[in-house]
Amino acid sequence: MDKLESFIIENFKIDKKVLDYALKCENNVKDKFDEIDKITEYNQLKVLKAMQKNKLSEAHFAATTGYGYNDLGRDTLEQIYADIFHAEAGLVRPQIISGTHALSVALAGNLRPGDEILSPVGVPYDTLQGVIGIRPEKGSLAEYGITYKQVDLLSDGSFDFEGIKNAITEKTKLVTIQRSKGYEWRESLPIEKTAELIKFIKSIKPEVICMVDNCYCEFVDYIEPTDVGADLAVGSLIKNPGGGLAPIGGYIVGKNEYVENAAVRLTSPGLGKEVGATLGINSLLIQGLFNAPQVVNGSLKGAVFLANIFEGLGFNVIPTSNEKRADIVQALELKSAENVIAFCQGIQKGAPVDSFVTPEPWDMPGYDCPVIMAAGAFVQGSSIELSADAPVKPPYNVFMQGGLSWHHAKIGIIIGLQNMVDKGLVKL
Ligand SMILES: *Cc1c(COP(=O)(O)O)cnc(C)c1O
Repeated sequence: MDKLESFIIENFKIDKKVLDYALKCENNVKDKFDEIDKITEYNQLKVLKAMQKNKLSEAHFAATTGYGYNDLGRDTLEQIYADIFHAEAGLVRPQIISGTHALSVALAGNLRPGDEILSPVGVPYDTLQGVIGIRPEKGSLAEYGITYKQVDLLSDGSFDFEGIKNAITEKTKLVTIQRSKGYEWRESLPIEKTAELIKFIKSIKPEVICMVDNCYCEFVDYIEPTDVGADLAVGSLIKNPGGGLAPIGGYIVGKNEYVENAAVRLTSPGLGKEVGATLGINSLLIQGLFNAPQVVNGSLKGAVFLANIFEGLGFNVIPTSNEKRADIVQALELKSAENVIAFCQGIQKGAPVDSFVTPEPWDMPGYDCPVIMAAGAFVQGSSIELSADAPVKPPYNVFMQGGLSWHHAKIGIIIGLQNMVDKGLVKL
């Protein structure tokens, strides 16, 4: 046994047979890892080029306070984001609390009473349901007279083109396209399918705003939604593009007019992008962006490795280990509450932070069943760090994502598997 293997076995209490199985799975996905490396290299160079083009400089890391007029670092970061996404403009701010807030601001800024939103990809992410008013919430868009229509994906996961065509009317102002699966058991939308959908929608109503919820999808492929016709792409900085370093934030990139509409909603009418001090965290947002392709690389490798491990044990997984990936999320159907809890507790055991804490299912606001979350993260709730969440209800699906490095994702997953073996839930 080599030095690494004996270190793993001794220090993390992994059985030799668990480790052997995991190493066999790692070997199974070698070709996939090569593909991921190539995409990462491309994205790393794309980010580097955008930083060079905008003459990123030490001065941009300085703190601003108060109103934040002339925050050069902030404005440069926004232009770097715009260049990476081949968009006209960017709004990238620590004042955007999260992905939900970014989406909420993009929606509220671009919609007026009487307008209608269409989701052609089924029900949106849980928190967005409250924003739109699908689930009644104080301050929802529904309270402002903004209506919502939804067209579900067909049972084979394809778009219901006929249904979408019929759902677009003169009221339809904005189409929201969520790429990542969220807590749904469906495929995430690869860039090609996103492109096809946008093209179809624009062929029916060219002036409709196509907004893509790009959470978890940044740097997973060579191009982004704004490269294929999206008017807006929106996401969270405590996911992929923050590279694990951003302590807070969200981004909105796209057409000037629509980004500006979002900016005046985020700050104030008449103020827009001109204000918003960055209080010294610009350097983290910028360096995080620089690291992001590498961090997404580790996350993707972890997801592929996890898929192969559980496929081999006879579980359903989405996507499979050799399918093309649209996001960093790996879904597993674990068939029982015991499996879900053991796996999530194992992931927590492998964390750098709070590894000694045992997560339990709890009734989280906004969910209709208990949810268990494993997240031993440096940044609270950061899901670009290795994390697993599951609504504890049949068919007991678990969603794992993140990993600041492949090597951390790997040991975390092995510990998750070992925890299931220890409880007699899986046999190798
Ligand atoms: C995470 C996520 C959101 C919300 O982001 P938060 O940062 O958790 O508010 C929205 N949509 C999708 C698809 C997501 O994965």
